[in-house]
Amino acid sequence: MLFKFYGTRGSVPVSTKNTRKHGGNTTCLYVEARSGEIIIVDAGTGIRELGNELVSKRKRRLNLLFTHYHWDHIQGFPFFAPVFVAGNEIIIHGPADEVAAEKALSYQMTMPYFPADMANLPADITFKNLKKTLTIGSIEIDTIVTNHPNHTRGLKFTERKNSFAFLTDNELHAQNGKTGYDEFVRFIRGTDLFIHDAQYTDELYEKRKGWGHSTYRQVADLARDAGTHRFMITHHDHSSTDSFIEKNIRDIRKRCPKYKIEAAADGKTRRF
Ligand SMILES: [Zn+2]
Ligand SMILES: [Zn+2]
Repeated sequence: MLFKFYGTRGSVPVSTKNTRKHGGNTTCLYVEARSGEIIIVDAGTGIRELGNELVSKRKRRLNLLFTHYHWDHIQGFPFFAPVFVAGNEIIIHGPADEVAAEKALSYQMTMPYFPADMANLPADITFKNLKKTLTIGSIEIDTIVTNHPNHTRGLKFTERKNSFAFLTDNELHAQNGKTGYDEFVRFIRGTDLFIHDAQYTDELYEKRKGWGHSTYRQVADLARDAGTHRFMITHHDHSSTDSFIEKNIRDIRKRCPKYKIEAAADGKTRRF
């Protein structure tokens, strides 16, 4: 399997010369199974470019998974070209614990927010509740509830002996969190690589407790406790410049010199 980032920014898209390297699009991750199935995680603004590529490659059958429905994870959906192509088959899996995906996506496409109505899109769209575990082609997916305002899931993708986890929007040490720290350790343990939210530095976190995000240091500690020493940082704060992200990565590498640590960036791809 492979994955490729199309959006790694948290909260709101940014477009400045100081954020070009890591990218300014909000969350979108492309996953491709060996069996050919396409899985897209979240519809942040990065899904616009991905959608255009999929249309030009005439990919007709797509799976779209939602971790949750905060704006930065759905706002690209109205600009996702495959939904405007008749005959395309799009299966949307989203948590239905608070509100179902169909409702959440429809809200942002109703008058006066957007002129195209969800119910009249040309593609054949099916909605499914995101189960705790599911299989798409050759990939098995496990989910875990994260500590974030509104119901949110982290995901783990396993294909043959390879696996990686994607936990965007998670406060590892939330007070009164929905999921305990040890459960995240178990979820990550045994993966080849995990991707985790570190929107904040330790300093900023002091002012943002309860907002549902983690710090670089907390994610490095998770790597240590789970024994998975390869990880990528994502959900970069909208105020974080490329040089600030790089400084934070350098600092955390100094703390953990044997770990393989990277910042997620639009376009970055990994194969297993
Ligand atoms: Zn987010
Ligand atoms: Zn969120």
